[in-house]
Amino acid sequence: MKEKLEQIRTNGLEKIKNTKIMSELEEIKKELIGKKSELSKVLKSMSTLAPEEKKTIGMLATQIKTTFTEKVQQKEEEIISKMSVLDEPIDLSIPGKKVTEGALHPITQMKYDLNDAFLSLGFEIYNEDDISSEKYAFDNLNFAKNHPARQSMDTYWIAGTEDKSGAERLCLRPHLTGGSVRYLLEHGAPARFVYPGGAFRNETTDARHERAFIQYEALIVDKDISFSSGMVMIQTILEKVFGRKINTRMREGFFPFTEPGYEIDMECLVCGGKGCKVCNHNGWIEVMPGGVIHPNVLRSANLDPEEWTGFYINIGLDRLVMMRYGVDDVRLFHSTDLRFLKQFK
Ligand SMILES: [Zn+2]
Repeated sequence: MKEKLEQIRTNGLEKIKNTKIMSELEEIKKELIGKKSELSKVLKSMSTLAPEEKKTIGMLATQIKTTFTEKVQQKEEEIISKMSVLDEPIDLSIPGKKVTEGALHPITQMKYDLNDAFLSLGFEIYNEDDISSEKYAFDNLNFAKNHPARQSMDTYWIAGTEDKSGAERLCLRPHLTGGSVRYLLEHGAPARFVYPGGAFRNETTDARHERAFIQYEALIVDKDISFSSGMVMIQTILEKVFGRKINTRMREGFFPFTEPGYEIDMECLVCGGKGCKVCNHNGWIEVMPGGVIHPNVLRSANLDPEEWTGFYINIGLDRLVMMRYGVDDVRLFHSTDLRFLKQFK
């Protein structure tokens, strides 16, 4: 009996030692210490043995079982540590999968370029929440009480705030300008900052109108901001974005928060000023309304209009991107047509 057990031990250890595959080891484990194993049979037949032999054989059989269990476990760990993460051998001749690369949308890229240009001029980048209020979107900005933009036809008022007014009447911001007073109230003057972001209008969409769009606004407030320093700022920004001098002109424009206000045009770069469908055949394209900050807006920001003055510009990102790449239809940028957008990678 003892010799038989020794034989089982030698054979078993040899089998464990020689296997290299997990599934095979599972089989060996069953064979060596499972219910139907030789070892189990020996243990079961022990009742027929004399008491003295029973003790010796019993101890030996238990010892062998422990050894097998330990060795199987060691082998398991060894196999796992040598295992490859691949289930199958690698065929290096199979062509690889092409990784699809994303890229920034040209409008986003323009926003980042403008951020860089303004940061280099000492401006701060400010972010306001998309949800604003009647106070910030209209009251602070010198909009008349009956101004049509306040009506729901233009502004998305938020449910539950409709019968309220001022700071309690909430809306999705219809333009970014409200953020200017919010910043000035938080930081005071002098100040120079930009505040890019989304604006939302309750409009019927067509080729020129969208319900949500990205705007980019800048404001500089100081003691001696002249009209000409506003103009220099615009020139500098355009030069940084386009890498060369860009011809601009200003026309009178009206916005409740400016006094006086301007429409700032740049020479059409699609046609080089000769006239094309983008510039309505007049060689100039309107890229940014702006103007001198209205005294009432300064008062909303707790600033004395006798002491402070400022200059707004609201940059039309879409238009600048069209000029940068000579693209003559703005809708292409919002079309999500990858054949078009992939060209800007
Ligand atoms: Zn043109």
